[in-house]
Amino acid sequence: MKKCDVVIIGAGPAGIFTALEMIKNDSKKKVILVEQGKSMEKRRCPKEKTNKCLYCKPYCDITTGFSGAGAFSDGKLSLSYEVGGELPNLVGANKVQSLIEYTDQIYLDFGADTKIEGIGQDDKVKDIRKKAIKAGLKLVDCPIRHLGTEKAQEIYGEIQAYLIKNGVEILFGYTCLDADIRDGKCYGVEIEDIKTHETLTIEAANTVVATGRKGADWLEKLCTRSGVDHVPGTVDVGVRVEVRNEIMEVVNNVLYESKLIGYPAPFKNKVRTFCQNPGGFVSQENYDNDLAIVNGHSYKEKKSNNTNLAILCSHNFRVPFDQPIEYAKRIGELTNMLANGQILVQRFGDILEGKRTWQEELERSNVRPTLPDAVAGDITSALSYRTMMNIINFIKAVDEVVPGFAAQETLLYAPEIKFYSNRVKMDEDLNTNIENFYCLGDSSGWTRGLMMASVMGVIVGRRLV
Ligand SMILES: Cc1cc2nc3c(=O)[nH]c(=O)nc-3n(C[C@H](O)[C@H](O)[C@H](O)COP(=O)(O)OP(=O)(O)OC[C@H]3O[C@@H](n4cnc5c(N)ncnc54)[C@H](O)[C@@H]3O)c2cc1C
Repeated sequence: MKKCDVVIIGAGPAGIFTALEMIKNDSKKKVILVEQGKSMEKRRCPKEKTNKCLYCKPYCDITTGFSGAGAFSDGKLSLSYEVGGELPNLVGANKVQSLIEYTDQIYLDFGADTKIEGIGQDDKVKDIRKKAIKAGLKLVDCPIRHLGTEKAQEIYGEIQAYLIKNGVEILFGYTCLDADIRDGKCYGVEIEDIKTHETLTIEAANTVVATGRKGADWLEKLCTRSGVDHVPGTVDVGVRVEVRNEIMEVVNNVLYESKLIGYPAPFKNKVRTFCQNPGGFVSQENYDNDLAIVNGHSYKEKKSNNTNLAILCSHNFRVPFDQPIEYAKRIGELTNMLANGQILVQRFGDILEGKRTWQEELERSNVRPTLPDAVAGDITSALSYRTMMNIINFIKAVDEVVPGFAAQETLLYAPEIKFYSNRVKMDEDLNTNIENFYCLGDSSGWTRGLMMASVMGVIVGRRLV
């Protein structure tokens, strides 16, 4: 048995910044950080060498380990409160914006690039916005600090060393099984060594759960079992789109990331672009239940000929079905099944013509897939009619802003799913209905990005000093 003042589950940005902010405020409290993955320097994706996913067990290094899903990501810090989640609805837009500026400075102090993308060039932004308005889309302004995949790993490596130097005990290779919640109060957690399966109890005055998208399902079950108030949120299902850099040149140069939102007919659901990677690479991330999900990232130096971005459709469920995570998982499983357990890819033109894509057809295009082991096929056999129509009509609207976006050869990869749907109820000070129990970051349902998750950590770090 171990004892501490604060136990944090999950060493993603939300968990890390909780501990970091406590140190910055001269806290003398004993903090234990529990992470099921590896330390920063041990995280490796073998695909860099093998060119194909080896389905690493017990966990995928892309989503698991110090810095969470962030380290192997593109590392784009969104510097506007309008991007990255619904935290502003909880604590207020002004507070979030000033905390973004504060947190951004910490990233700079640890070595982030001083350049900010997406500012200046006002006339060009105006022109893009005019086209977006004509196409029925909203363009969200968002300055971006791009860490880049390789630099993000360095920065988080520095942060890991800083936490350890300042007395934070980090337990790598341990999975949290449960939180000890009795009579409306949390007393700590039970964790398990993933190699020996030995369990360990940690008694803690405060427990912080920050388990990210991969821990969202686990947290939802914990909430249901232990009476933590939560509501089903939204689930985002969609595709990752890949085109040649030439097509996206203007928006890449002017905005780096074009955040477009639309409500296309006939369903008028919210559809948006997310995580744009100029010169980037489409990637695969694996969840513990063997679900293969598509994502994308880009390096600071190494560039491809393509730009990729996600198109996501929000889905809500209430009565009689209220389990969005389950829904999205089934969609993911079905898509994986059609691709022999891998990621499926199809050309946009083939979708419009009602035919599947064949491998040899991919090889004839200008755009060559940067995810070489994606399997050519038919994503329309897996995604629902509603999702497909949302995506097709949204792509046609984006084509008015970015001519060529709806080309025959544009690649659509699936499944692209964001698992942050369980939303834990909390007040503006981030108190849940359970005393001494906090839920942060993507698994709480309130964030969906590196910066917003980090900011949520800062808020709770200050509370726990
Ligand atoms: C490929 C990729 C690219 C991305 N690119 C960007 C980007 O450019 N910009 C951006 O803003 N966002 C990006 N994101 C999203 C971003 O990484 C997340 O929004 C952010 O990391 C969320 O932070 P978090 O702390 O809430 O959770 P995470 O970063 O997911 O961290 C959660 C941690 O908890 C651990 N964990 C889970 N369950 C348990 C358990 N039971 N016991 C112990 N440990 C557990 C996990 O191993 C993980 O390390 C990207 C994500 C991916 C996967």
